[in-house]
Amino acid sequence: STLYRVDGWGQPYFSVNSSGNISIKPHGSETLSYQEIDLLKVVKKASDPKHSGGLGLQLPLIVRFPDVLKNRLESLQSAFDSAIVENGYGAHYQGVYPVKCNQDRYVVEDIVKFGGSFRFGLEAGSKPELLLAMSCLCKGNAESLLICNGFKDAEYIALALIARKLMLNTVIVLEQEEELDMVIAISRKIDVLPVIGLRAKLRTKHSGHFGSTSGEKGKFGLTTAQILRVVKKLDQAGMLDCLQLLHFHIGSQIPSTVLLSDGVGEAAQIFAELVRLGANMKVIDIGGGLGLDYDGSKSTESDISVGYTLQEYAASVVQSVKFVCDMKGISHPIICSESGRAIVSHHSILVFEAFSASSYDSPEVSSLGLQYFVDRLSDDARADYRNLSAAAIRGEYETCLLYADQLKQRCVEQFKEGSLGIEQLADVDGLCDLVTKAIGAADPVRTYHVNLSVFTSIPDFWGINQLFPIVPIHRLDERPTSRGILSDLTCDSDGKIDRFIGGQSSLPLHELNGDGSGGRGGYYLGMFLGGAYEEALGGVHNLFGGPSVVRVLQSDGPHSFAVTLAIPGPSSGDVLRVMQHEPELMFENLKHRAEEYINQNDDGGMGHASLASGLAQCFKNMPYLAPGLSCCLTA
Ligand code: PLP
Repeated sequence: STLYRVDGWGQPYFSVNSSGNISIKPHGSETLSYQEIDLLKVVKKASDPKHSGGLGLQLPLIVRFPDVLKNRLESLQSAFDSAIVENGYGAHYQGVYPVKCNQDRYVVEDIVKFGGSFRFGLEAGSKPELLLAMSCLCKGNAESLLICNGFKDAEYIALALIARKLMLNTVIVLEQEEELDMVIAISRKIDVLPVIGLRAKLRTKHSGHFGSTSGEKGKFGLTTAQILRVVKKLDQAGMLDCLQLLHFHIGSQIPSTVLLSDGVGEAAQIFAELVRLGANMKVIDIGGGLGLDYDGSKSTESDISVGYTLQEYAASVVQSVKFVCDMKGISHPIICSESGRAIVSHHSILVFEAFSASSYDSPEVSSLGLQYFVDRLSDDARADYRNLSAAAIRGEYETCLLYADQLKQRCVEQFKEGSLGIEQLADVDGLCDLVTKAIGAADPVRTYHVNLSVFTSIPDFWGINQLFPIVPIHRLDERPTSRGILSDLTCDSDGKIDRFIGGQSSLPLHELNGDGSGGRGGYYLGMFLGGAYEEALGGVHNLFGGPSVVRVLQSDGPHSFAVTLAIPGPSSGDVLRVMQHEPELMFENLKHRAEEYINQNDDGGMGHASLASGLAQCFKNMPYLAPGLSCCLTA
C-alpha cells in the first residue's frame, strides 16, 4: 500500500487487506473489522457471469457505497458542530450539497435522506438542477435550504419562487445585478415574498488552478458598488427584509486555512456591513472549496492536496465569522457551506480492466542473417554500422547510442527512397533495440491497455490535468515487477494516463496473467476519489458511454455486502441515440441488407437469423470491450 500511498489519500475508507485486495471501510473510522468489504469480491459479483449470483455487468464499473456518503455528511456536520461548541458560537451550521458535483438520482436522494436530521439541503445552478432539487427536497426536511445559484432568466426565477410557494426553504442568490429587477417583478406578479441572497465578489484571491473565478476580476458575483445598488433598490422597493443571505465562493480545493480564513473574514465584514445597512441577514454561505488530499501529501502548494483536516477547516470558518461578528457586535449567523467535492468524491470508485500490455519484444535480427542486412545498406549506413560495432566492443555506450540513432535514420531514409526492404527496416529496429537493451538504456515503461475511455470517465485528467489515485485493486501483496502507463480504448492520442500522484510518470504494475501480452488480463484497477465532477462532466468521445453502476451496502454477515442496485451502462444503441441516430432504423436497414446478402450467396456458415441476432446484440451491448472472447458475432 505504501507504493500507491493508499494510507495517505485513502484514510479512513480504503486500505489493503490480508489477501492483498483493496478493502472498503464503509463507516470510516467507525467501521468494525468484520464490516470491511473486499472490493474485488464486489467487482466479481457485479461482472463475472460465472460467479454465483453474478450480475453479468460489463466493465468499466462504478461501485457506489452509500454508507461512505452518509459518513462523509455526518463527518462534515460533526466537524462544524464541534467547532461551534468549542468556540462558543451562537448559531448552527446547515450545509447544502451542490448537485452539479454529481446529479445522479440516488446520490442526491441519499444526501437528502442521510442529511435530513440535521437539515442538510441542496444547491442548484441551473433550471434542471433546480427541478431535481425541488423534487428531492419535497421528501426531506422542510428547514433544509434550497440555494439557487447561477445565471438566471425569468423562468428560473419564477421556478425558484414557485418552490417557496411549495414551502421549500428557497433562497434566490443574485449572481448578477440585473436579476434583482426580475425577482422583484415576478415575486409581485405571483404574490410570493422572496428570500434573497447575494453573491459577493471577494478581493481575496485563491491563486491555484481552481481559483480563477475568485478575486476582483473573477467571473461571478457582485462588486462592492453593485452590492450597494442592490441594497438601495431593495430598500426603495420596501423589500430590504428579503435580503437574508450572503454567499461567496473563492474556488474549489482551497489549499490552506490561511487563505480560507482570509476569505471568510472578508465576507464576514461584508455581512456585518449589510446588517448595518438594514438587511435582515441570517445566513453566511461560504460556498465550496473544502479540498481533498488526492495524493496524500498534505501539501498547501499543490492543486491536488490540502494542508488541513475537516476539523481544522470547520474551526477556521467558525472562528473567522465569530471574530468579525463579535468585533462588530452583531449576532452570529447560520453558517452554510456548499461542499461538493468533499462530500461525494469518496463514495464512488471506478473499476476498469487492463486487457493487454505491450511486451518487451525480445529484439530480433533478421532470419536472413546479419550479412544479408549489412550488404543492403548504403555506404554511409554501413559505415555507421561498423562504427556502432567498434564502439560496442570498446564499451563506449554513449557513442553506441549515437551511431545506432544515426543508422536508424539513414535506413528510414533508404526505405522511403525505396532502396531498403521492409525486412531490413525491421532488422534495423531490432538491432537498435538490442543495443539499447545491452547497454541498459531501454525504456522499461510499458503501455497497459485499459477497457475505459479517459474522456468519459476521467475528463478532468484530460481537461485540467487533475490527478486521481489509481491503484490495482488486488495483488497488492505481490511486488509489481513492471511499470506502465495506461492507454484507453479511444482512437485519440490524448486518451492515455501517463501522470500519476506522487509526481510519477508511470505506475508500478503487475504482469498480466497468462503471457502478459495478449488475451484478457483479469487485472483490475480502481480510480478513487472521482465521485465529484467526473461522472457529471464525461462526454461520449468515440461514442463510449458511461460505465455500469452498482450500489453496495454493507450487510449483516462478516465481510458481507449486498448489491442493492445494478444498472448496465449505456448500450451502443443508447450512445448512438445521443447523437440523433436512430438505432432501431439502423438495425432494420442492416438486417435488410443481411437478408439480401444471404439470399444471393448460399452462405453456409452464418444463417440469416444468427446474423440478425448478432447485429441486434451489438446495438444492445455496451461499446466497451465485451467480456471474454465470446463476442456475439463470433460465438
Ligand atoms: N458552490 C459553487 C458556487 C461552486 O461554483 C462550486 C464549484 O466550483 C461549489 C459550490 C462546489 O465546490 P467544491 O466541490 O469545491 O466543494
